[in-house]
Amino acid sequence: MELINDKYEFPGGIDPLELCKQYGTPLYVYDAAVIERQYKRITTAYTYPKFRVHYACKALNNLTVLRLLRQMGSALDCVSINEVRLGLLAGYAPQDILFTPNFAGVDEYEEAVRLGIKINIDAIPMLENWGLHHPDVPFCIRLNPHLMAGGNEKISVGHIDSKFGISIHQLPHVMRIVENQKLKVEGLHMHTGSDILDVDVFLRGAEILLEAAKKFPNLKYIDLGSGFKVPYKPDDIETDVEEVGEKLSQRFAEFCKEYGRELTLMIEPGKFLVSEAGFFFAKCTLVKQTTSTAFVGLDTGFNHLIRPMFYGSYHKIVNVTEPTFKPRIYNVVGNICETDTFAADRRIAEVVEGDILCFYNAGAYGYTMASNFNSRLRPAEILIYKGKAHLIRERDTFEDLVRGQMEVNL
Ligand SMILES: *Cc1c(COP(=O)(O)O)cnc(C)c1O
Repeated sequence: MELINDKYEFPGGIDPLELCKQYGTPLYVYDAAVIERQYKRITTAYTYPKFRVHYACKALNNLTVLRLLRQMGSALDCVSINEVRLGLLAGYAPQDILFTPNFAGVDEYEEAVRLGIKINIDAIPMLENWGLHHPDVPFCIRLNPHLMAGGNEKISVGHIDSKFGISIHQLPHVMRIVENQKLKVEGLHMHTGSDILDVDVFLRGAEILLEAAKKFPNLKYIDLGSGFKVPYKPDDIETDVEEVGEKLSQRFAEFCKEYGRELTLMIEPGKFLVSEAGFFFAKCTLVKQTTSTAFVGLDTGFNHLIRPMFYGSYHKIVNVTEPTFKPRIYNVVGNICETDTFAADRRIAEVVEGDILCFYNAGAYGYTMASNFNSRLRPAEILIYKGKAHLIRERDTFEDLVRGQMEVNL
């Protein structure tokens, strides 16, 4: 969404204010062209021929978005059996889905085996049991290279006391189990966290995984995970995917020569593909001036966009209704009865009650992390595709809040 002649517009001349009028607020809007652009950037950057993107769908799992990515050629990365089911519903072939859960129950793995999904094992006890139940089912192993990486504590998953993956230091143990039980390891995987900036971190992680890969003679693929950072603040830097793609492709091709076979190189970006495609609109319910602070209150809260409260994330916020008004300094807050701050001391074109504000970079971990806290209804979702806006999820209704509840007469 861009400011054109003092008015915000989506491609095709779509007016965001019209969308808000038609579908109400709060409202998530995704621009398919941005998802396509990001997907192309990745597939262009990775020149290695046997390369596959597995979209990490926990970032944004609307079925229409999953379908859009499948049509572009993407495969899928799923962290729960229900994400797997969504993927199948969206038309992904079972072998195009990698199931990478963490502390999921045995039943989820059993279901994934039954469905013919690619499975990623990330704990030694799981590995020990695998041979007992599925000696002939090939699988992938998630290793943890213990790189300290990621934008913040909560999304860094590679460090030494992380719950994710099997420690690279336990590789000898892994090898004993694999050899004793003659297990079929077809893939190696790592994912060290989100928001990694440094190209060297990607390369170091790859080196560790490739070194481990030499010990597994029957691999088909190596999955280097994600971590690509996108710009949130005005002057934010983003991961240089072009550089990462080029360097990793070269290194991977070299490795395959040594290994003796061309393996598939996989990565699984979530945020990179969908974050910048997403715009979250909310209406100002009230401007409250206290003795020290001007609060802009919205008809939404951290129940709909939790990133600022949960991660301390910055999201650019603009006044869509009055882009040209003189900026003032505001605290932008939600309507949840808890500390619910989207932004503090933020310069925004002067806001009055009824104005529509827009949060940028709301495509990833926006709607998928939304809840009904405070008994508020989750927003609708819109996808803009080839100059047309499509409703891809209805707003919750009051019935959604009570659905499934059994009213017991006490
Ligand atoms: C969340 C996740 C991703 C995607 O991370 P982004 O930072 O959104 O790119 C990839 N792989 C796994 C296993 C994940 O859990």
